[in-house]
Amino acid sequence: MGLLEGKVALITGAARGQGRAHAVTCAREGADVVLVDVDSEVSATTYGLATADDHAETVKLVEEYGRRAVDVVADVRDQAALDAAVARALAELGRIDIVIANAGIHSFGPFWELDDAAWDDMVGTNLTGVWRTVKAATPHLIERGSGSVVVTASVNGLEATAGFTHYVAAKHGVIGLMKNMAVELAPHGVRCNAIAPGAIDTPMTNHQQFWDWFAGREGGTQDEWVAGGRHYGVLQGTTFLTPQVIADTALYLNSDLAAHVTGVTIPVDSGHLLLP
Ligand code: NAD
Repeated sequence: MGLLEGKVALITGAARGQGRAHAVTCAREGADVVLVDVDSEVSATTYGLATADDHAETVKLVEEYGRRAVDVVADVRDQAALDAAVARALAELGRIDIVIANAGIHSFGPFWELDDAAWDDMVGTNLTGVWRTVKAATPHLIERGSGSVVVTASVNGLEATAGFTHYVAAKHGVIGLMKNMAVELAPHGVRCNAIAPGAIDTPMTNHQQFWDWFAGREGGTQDEWVAGGRHYGVLQGTTFLTPQVIADTALYLNSDLAAHVTGVTIPVDSGHLLLP
């Protein structure tokens, strides 16, 4: 028996990176999965967004566990698209037990150099997109009287980082949003929690612009960051976590093991937040 046997998980940003690890972990533990993501035609960051091939690969990995995957191309900035994703999930899979609001983007810049487009894209995706995602699924969760919501914050939801102002603002907002959703959903039997990851090895960080920024802040080389340690932003282990360790934390939060855990933010950061 898996920890999520017979459940259905709706995951945003599910086509690659962290979201793919969530999807595959849910499938491994017995859940069917609704994969929500854009394709790269829809919008762009310096490191790009998910492609149709990314969607297909995640579907394949979920199906390898014998679970069903409903693949939806939708933008978390578009409420109607999210409502349609939920309607499709209910039509094809019959229920939603778990929501993982994971889709997000990242970009750089001192706050006084950000233009409206960069600010709106960031807040619209990383904060408003979380609200829209959970909002879309909530009527069904309330009707069922149970469920688990996990939102992806960041250590940047708990600390400042120069050059990340709009990301930091959005991720702090995600933690506040999560707490209030936990309060409002508790009477309906629905739990809501956040994960605050440190740096994860995904397409969001695995590109030259991010390495240049990281080298400017931490010094060192990629090999040294992989080796990790307190000079490279963490107390233990490697600087760049695998997506699996974050997916394992979401698995705990979404399982009955965490039946009495709601409204919390769990940093998964190898001790990063303890460093000055
Ligand atoms: P990623 O870029 O690999 O994955 C993000 C996914 O979200 C992509 O598949 C992308 O297409 C999708 N996405 C982006 N905008 C979208 C939109 N408007 N609508 C629907 N989907 C959209 O990055 P990742 O590292 O896997 O990021 C996952 C989450 O983890 C994000 O919320 C990110 O902020 C958070 N996070 C990442 C790190 C890190 O170091 N990588 C650290 C802390 C938190």
